[in-house]
Amino acid sequence: MLRRGNIYHKTDGKCAYCGKELEPFGTWHIDHAKPRKQGGNNEFDNLWPACANCNGQKKGKTATEFQCWVISSSIELLQRTIKRLACARSILNSGDAETSKELREAIMNVISDLEESQAHFYTDTIIPSS
Ligand SMILES: [Zn+2]
Repeated sequence: MLRRGNIYHKTDGKCAYCGKELEPFGTWHIDHAKPRKQGGNNEFDNLWPACANCNGQKKGKTATEFQCWVISSSIELLQRTIKRLACARSILNSGDAETSKELREAIMNVISDLEESQAHFYTDTIIPSS
C-alpha cells in the first residue's frame, strides 16, 4: 500500500516541479505525472509530490507537457518584459519630469510580474522526461 510519506520522500520533500520545500504534513498535492485522464495510473512511479501552485497550473498536462508549457510561458514573459522595459526607457528618454510617476508605475508593474512568475523560471524538474 502506498503511503503519502513514501511519495513525499521521493524528492526529499521538495515539489517535483519547482523544487520548493514542502511541509511534511502540509497541504502539498500528490500529482499524477501522467494524468488519470490520459491513462495514468496510481502506481508509485507515476505519483510525485507537488506544491499547490504547480499542481494547479499543471492540471491535465503530463510532466513533459507541463515542462514545455513552463518554458514557453517563461519566453512569453521575457518578451513582454523586454517590450515594457523598452517602453519605460522611451519615457525616461523623453526627460519630462511629469512622466516620472508613469515611469515608476511601469517599472513596478514589470517587477511585480516577474516576482509573481518566479516559479515559471524553474525548469529543472525532478521527474524524468517520458
Ligand atoms: Zn511547485
